[in-house]
Amino acid sequence: WSSRDFPWTNKLEVNNKKVFGNHSFRPNQREVINATMSGCDVFVLMPTGGGKSLTYQLPALICPGVTLVISPLVSLIQDQIMHLLQANITAAYLSANMEWTEQQEILRELNSDFCKYKLLYVTPEKVAKSDVLLRHLDSLHVRELLARIVIDEAHCVSQWGHDFRPDYQGLGILKQKFPNTPVLALTATATASVKEDVVQALGLVNCIVFRQSFNRPNLWYSVIPKTRKCLEDIDKFIRENHFDECGIIYCLSRMDCEKAAEKLQECGHKCAFYHGSMDPAQRAFVQKQWSKDEINIICATVAFGMGINKPDVRFVIHHSLPKSIEGYHQECGRAGRDGQRSSCVLYYSYSDYIRVKHMISQGAIEQSPMTSGYNRSNMTNSARILETNSENLLRMVCYCENDVDCRRLLQLAHFGEKFNSSTCQKTCDNCLNNTTFIEKDVTEIAKQLVELVKLTGQKVSSFHILEVYRGSLSQMVKKHRHETVSLHGAGKHLAKGEASRVLHHLVVEDFLVEEVKKSDIYGSVSSILKVNEFKVRNLFAGRRIILRFPSSIK
Ligand code: ADP
Ligand code: ZN
Repeated sequence: WSSRDFPWTNKLEVNNKKVFGNHSFRPNQREVINATMSGCDVFVLMPTGGGKSLTYQLPALICPGVTLVISPLVSLIQDQIMHLLQANITAAYLSANMEWTEQQEILRELNSDFCKYKLLYVTPEKVAKSDVLLRHLDSLHVRELLARIVIDEAHCVSQWGHDFRPDYQGLGILKQKFPNTPVLALTATATASVKEDVVQALGLVNCIVFRQSFNRPNLWYSVIPKTRKCLEDIDKFIRENHFDECGIIYCLSRMDCEKAAEKLQECGHKCAFYHGSMDPAQRAFVQKQWSKDEINIICATVAFGMGINKPDVRFVIHHSLPKSIEGYHQECGRAGRDGQRSSCVLYYSYSDYIRVKHMISQGAIEQSPMTSGYNRSNMTNSARILETNSENLLRMVCYCENDVDCRRLLQLAHFGEKFNSSTCQKTCDNCLNNTTFIEKDVTEIAKQLVELVKLTGQKVSSFHILEVYRGSLSQMVKKHRHETVSLHGAGKHLAKGEASRVLHHLVVEDFLVEEVKKSDIYGSVSSILKVNEFKVRNLFAGRRIILRFPSSIK
């Protein structure tokens, strides 16, 4: 597909330079354009900032007819259209919250024989809910003026993805109605299963897939144990490594954002917060201050970041656990767009897992703007989504608990990409760490912990289990008379952190399940450990559990 002998090659070169002002093509751009212009269905996985827009805007410009683009957010669409108009390319958009007369005007133009639009952007619900639009597309199609259908942020189609949007599922109708019109699906994030799901839901046939490595060599990854004085640690980290440079601190809740911003301001950083309950003008103001370097640091929920193109973001810090590896990778991806070395630091504590899990189950977690329209009325869907979200979160815990394997390898494996960790060149904490590791069979410890959960009636927290296992005589232990349980103190001889590693592993592997309880009146969250009898049978039927530990642990 990289050939320069297609009938349109010359036009591509000329317009890429003249209209878009680019000197050359970026990796895969030419290939994607050639494939879609040959009439094939194409699926493109390209990291954020890779240049996906050009792969449909350039064909739209040089092909006759109108290119339909489905994009999730009106703000993104408006941004695109502004750029297109600046380049003298006529484009329009239709969205549900537009004046009816304005919509009429655009539809009338689509009906005309010499429709001036090269691109028509619509939000997905427009396709799902508007017969009028479909009729107009039909009329374009009959007149051979429907050039191509583009699905931007295509991972939103899949429930396995981290940004599922029900309206995207209805897009399969486009291929049914217009089987011969080429479809181009674009995303910056998709695992193998998400990709399969998208291809199937959209009904793409013999689809050609372009993917490039999601590795970002200039980003340095680390996971740091989160302490009570996390914000002080963050201040110190920024001071020592990125003083006066620009960065994002992702926080879980709105309150966390505000607290973090306040603390860092006190420490002398130029800092502001950003989250979903601020009014749009306020948000726009903060974003602008940040783009113009009037402030360096934004403490934000994941509501911040889409469509942000600041090239010199030097650090992305996660103040608490992200909700999926995909989301984490995308959030980190906002650092170092200019290719310069940048840091991605995640502050991890197991207790954040309980907190995030609870927020997910309550639907209380702030979402990226793409998913905020998600429809809760459909029960079977919500149950499935909840399950997917919990699973995604567990994988994230697993990533954080791992202090052995290359961070890049772990992230890329999630995207189905093989990575040779020697290429990491010690740019992640685990590769940098020279401690040697030993493998240890922890099956007996695991069995004892499971046994202990049963002995204490499946009513206590993981913290409590560890206390009893280590032989604590704390008030709490005594109150429950757990000092009398037969396995009390059975793990006394183990090195610090060893039992908790095993316990967390049992949760990650689904032998034990954290059941998050309703928060009390103070809003705090508690959780109790339960045994997954089905899985645990394997453990007692001879399955071994081997974990790696720093060789200082015997
Ligand atoms: P994506 O949608 O993949 O995140 P965009 O399409 O928004 O990326 O492109 C990111 C930036 O790269 C834009 O500023 C765009 O103008 C620029 N760009 C795209 N293709 C090229 C190219 N071939 N040469 C130079 N700049 C490019
Ligand atoms: Zn590494």
